[in-house]
Amino acid sequence: TSFLLFSCQKKEQVNSTNKPLTEIDKKVDSLLSIMTLQEKIGQMNQYNGFWDVTGPTPTNGDAAKKYEHLKSGWVGSMLNVTGVEEVRKVQKIAVEESRLGIPLIIGFDVIHGYKTTSPIPLAEAASWDMEAIKKSAEVAADEASASGINWTFAPMVDISRDARWGRVMEGAGEDTFLGSKIAYARIKGFQGNDLSKNNTIAACAKHFAGYGFAEAGRDYNTVDVGLSTLRNVIFPPFKASVEADVKTFMNSFNELNGIPATGNKFLQRDILKNEWNFNGFVVSDWGSISEMIVHGYSSNGKEAAQQAVTAGSDMDMESYLYVKNLEQLVKEDKIDESLIDDAARRILKVKFELGLFDDPYRYCDTERESKVVGSSENRKAVLDIAKKSIVLLKNEKQLLPLKKEGLKIALIGPLANDKNSPLGSWRLAADDNSAISVLEGLQKYNSNKINFTKGVELVEGNTAFVFETKINKSNKQGMDKALANAKNADVVVMVLGEYGYQSGEGRSRASLDLPGLQQELLEKVFAVNKNIVLVLMNGRPLTINWADKNIPAILEAWHLGTESGNAIAQVLYGDYNPSGKLPMTFPRNVGQIPVYYNYKNTGRPVIPGENLVFWTHYIDEVNTPLYPFGHGLSYTTFKYENLRLSKSEFGSGQSIDVSFTLTNTGKYEGKEVVQLYIRDLVGSVTRPVRELKNFEMVSLKPGESKTVTFKIDEETIQFYTANNKWEAESGEFKVFVGGSSYTTLESSFSFNK
Ligand code: BGC
Repeated sequence: TSFLLFSCQKKEQVNSTNKPLTEIDKKVDSLLSIMTLQEKIGQMNQYNGFWDVTGPTPTNGDAAKKYEHLKSGWVGSMLNVTGVEEVRKVQKIAVEESRLGIPLIIGFDVIHGYKTTSPIPLAEAASWDMEAIKKSAEVAADEASASGINWTFAPMVDISRDARWGRVMEGAGEDTFLGSKIAYARIKGFQGNDLSKNNTIAACAKHFAGYGFAEAGRDYNTVDVGLSTLRNVIFPPFKASVEADVKTFMNSFNELNGIPATGNKFLQRDILKNEWNFNGFVVSDWGSISEMIVHGYSSNGKEAAQQAVTAGSDMDMESYLYVKNLEQLVKEDKIDESLIDDAARRILKVKFELGLFDDPYRYCDTERESKVVGSSENRKAVLDIAKKSIVLLKNEKQLLPLKKEGLKIALIGPLANDKNSPLGSWRLAADDNSAISVLEGLQKYNSNKINFTKGVELVEGNTAFVFETKINKSNKQGMDKALANAKNADVVVMVLGEYGYQSGEGRSRASLDLPGLQQELLEKVFAVNKNIVLVLMNGRPLTINWADKNIPAILEAWHLGTESGNAIAQVLYGDYNPSGKLPMTFPRNVGQIPVYYNYKNTGRPVIPGENLVFWTHYIDEVNTPLYPFGHGLSYTTFKYENLRLSKSEFGSGQSIDVSFTLTNTGKYEGKEVVQLYIRDLVGSVTRPVRELKNFEMVSLKPGESKTVTFKIDEETIQFYTANNKWEAESGEFKVFVGGSSYTTLESSFSFNK
């Protein structure tokens, strides 16, 4: 690193957040002062490693030319280069063969684990367990960093109320409060306390902003939301990410109220960099700078580059429009060179923080790679979070937990022996078919007789990474065998749902029913044996009305990753008592979407006993969801009672304690996520009927009771008001506690400023 002249310049310099310059700021400035304009722009350019590096001057597949652009300093980052050997190769070119030897930052979508795969993020959100979620991100960072990666494009912190959108699998669900806590935990897990350690990586809060509110749940679609929803619902998890010191943000493909997020100055400069003082960098989404032309916002690539950089997009992923146009734009005085300096400064700062200038090969340690990736310790950690992510939706006839002996079990369904689907979407580094299947998991409890028949195929062809997989709608050949199997059994365990890549990017669905012939299979099996435990494997809420009415036991097992089958078996046999709670509402009917717990009242009241037509409702479906946000049962039962408030009124600087007693009234030891909601009765902007404000996981032995206390203070009741401020308003509030958003206990208080 002798090429760097770390001469301290003017002492009284401050950075953009008006804090004194750090050692790293000084190093960045010193480096910037010797960089050419083109080299600075090069830092703002990211190349893809999956296929040939083409860039501004196509190499037409000529291998010899492939890395020329790395040598000329035109590349600041690469994505999709994995494995120590590959990373070392590209890093070596950047460090040894470019003029200044600036190391690359190596990005990858480490979304839920690397090789050892954790549950999909939506599933992890169902654990409501911040320590376990943080641990899962730590495991992912540990493995990815051992494979040469130092930057993940995660967490996705987009709130979404639309299960048709395939990317709900990648987020934390519908709620802002829970989503903010999870965003924070994930970032702390990836980045650790010290980014310069070689087992921590830079995180990326994405997609800023509004991506989860795509019209009709169709991925990439137009987003039109008002300021109150933006500020109160969509922004908080991003703000929490800045508070967690996230190093990078990604903008999004969608337009927001007419302006593409990538060219949106309000989002990237006014809110993110100025209001929230974010001092990391913003990367565009894949080609989203060039997509502004298709949006009808930029007339050509040059204008798109100008608009994106002006709006605050610092790094260009896969458009190559920065390297092609920014230099010219500066020369023509269309953009100020200070914009380039600012972007390059932000990027270099993260590289220094990662320790890449001290040792560019710090993430290239083959010994660590072979020791860490797929280690038994990591498998233990993902098994732990997998168990915690399972949600017991229904349990009648006491079918669950299964007796460990003396049961004849029919295991039926196309996902029961699937070793690929449980890995879910977005697991680019995992080996195909590396998950423990439910069949394998159950077989470990070999005291019961397990008879497996598939029943039907879910897809035609394989379930690997393909966009258009054909769902099997006609081949019923396996059904009879499955029915014979079911007839003979004491209990039928059916594993149904979505194949692994049926959710994720570009996988929106217009129907949320069980795909293919699975519903038919379920109904036919039910006709011969009613003792069914339905295990659902899916990446999003499904519409399972019929199952809810008829099937006695339903377990939501999502796509749980590598240890899937083990986690499910342990829950089915009661070695782990389920404790998960839904992070997203399950609709009865796709037509209800968006259906979510924190909706607002309309002006049309429902008067009990009156048969009114003119209130907000459907004439062919009820308004309520099938399973509300926060719902989840246990093998034991819990009683909530004696809700009391320490006082009925409080003012600024004061608080109220909300206490209640929770008792385990069942037979098993268990954990319950107790939830606190409030309702602000009158606001300068109308307020939702309920808002989650706190939660806690309480562990109780049978018969045991505990008093739980939550504090409510001014911060608890703040929101973005008609004054355009985040503040509390005086008035009356209701407070609710219980085991879901359909809570049982209720009281009230008032706040006077
Ligand atoms: C996705 C991003 C992802 C990027 C890089 C895009 O298509 O929207 O979330 O990080 O690709 O793979």
